[in-house]
Amino acid sequence: ARRALARLQRLPATTKDGTPVELQANLELPFELAMIAESGAHGIGLLRSEFMFMNREVAPDEDTQARIYQDIVEAMDGDPVTIRVLDWGSDKEVEALSRYLPETPEANPALGLRGIRLLLRYPALLETQLAAILRAAAHGPVRIMLPMVSVAAEVQAAREVLIRVWRRLKRRKNITLPDSLPPLGIMVETPAAALASPVLAQHADFFSIGTNDLTMYTLAADRSLPAGMKLYDPLEPAVLRLIHLTSSFAAQVGIQVSVCGELAGRPHAAPLLLGLGIRQLSMHGNTVPLVKKAIRASSLAACQRLAADALAAPSADAVRALLADAEA
Ligand code: PEP
Ligand code: MG
Repeated sequence: ARRALARLQRLPATTKDGTPVELQANLELPFELAMIAESGAHGIGLLRSEFMFMNREVAPDEDTQARIYQDIVEAMDGDPVTIRVLDWGSDKEVEALSRYLPETPEANPALGLRGIRLLLRYPALLETQLAAILRAAAHGPVRIMLPMVSVAAEVQAAREVLIRVWRRLKRRKNITLPDSLPPLGIMVETPAAALASPVLAQHADFFSIGTNDLTMYTLAADRSLPAGMKLYDPLEPAVLRLIHLTSSFAAQVGIQVSVCGELAGRPHAAPLLLGLGIRQLSMHGNTVPLVKKAIRASSLAACQRLAADALAAPSADAVRALLADAEA
C-alpha cells in the first residue's frame, strides 16, 4: 500500500475524462512540513498562522514571524504558500485573547470579534504580520488570505493596510521585498461572503471556501452541539448551495476558488465538490493521496449529475447516501 501511495504521489490529480484538479495542503503546525512535502500537494492552500500566537505572553515580533514564514516558503521550493492572517477568536483560544488585547470577553464569540474584524480593530497586529509575510514573499510565491470576511469593506480596509505596510517597508534598508504585492484573497466562510461573492470578487484576488465555519454559520449550529443533534453537517444541501453559488460566481468573473475546510479532505466528497465546480482543494497533508485517488476514479459528467442530485436532496443523510451510491 505504501508503494502504491508513493506511485500516486507522482501521478496528476486528473479525472478519468481529463479535468485537472489542484490539490494543496493545510498547515496548522510547522512540524507538518515534511509530511506535506511528501504528500504530492502543490503548495499550501491554507497556512493557519494561529500557532505562532499560542502559548505566549506577547505576540511574536516581525523578525520572528518573517523567519518562520520564510522557512516554510523555502521548504515548499517554488510551490505557492497561502498564509492566512491571524484568525483569533470564537473556538480559537478565546481565553488567551485577554493577554494580548484589552477586550472583555463577549457573550457570543462566534458572532463577535474574530478573524478580520479583530485585526482591523487592532491594526498593529495585522501590520506586523503583513510586514513579515511581505518579507517572506521575497523568497517564493506567497498569497495572503483574510479570515472571517463578511463584507467588502473589510477587504478594502485590509488592502489599505497592506499597501501602507508595503510602502513603509520599501523605505526601509536591509530588507528584501518581492517585485510586486502578493495576491490578497479571502476565506468564504460566512453565508454573507458566499451570497455577496460577486461583490467580493471585485475586491479579493482569490476565494477559499472554509466549509467548517460556513457549515456552522449557515446552520446556526455549533460543532459542539449535544450528541444526537447532528445539525452540524457540511453535506447539508443548504451548505452545498452556498458552495455552488460561490464557485459559479467565481467562474463567471474568472476568480480562483478553492475549498480548504475539512470537507475538502474527505475522499468520498471529492466528486461532489468537482460537480459543484471546484477545481482546487486544500486539505490535511495525509489525505492528499486518498483524495487524488478518488478524483482519478471520477468522471466529470458523473460528478455533475451527483452534484445536481445532492443540491436537490432533502437532507445531509440523503446526500451521504448519494455519495455512497456513487462510490459503489
Ligand atoms: C474553515 O472554517 O473551514 C477553515 C478552513 O478555517 P478554520 O477551520 O481554521 O476555522
Ligand atoms: Mg474557519
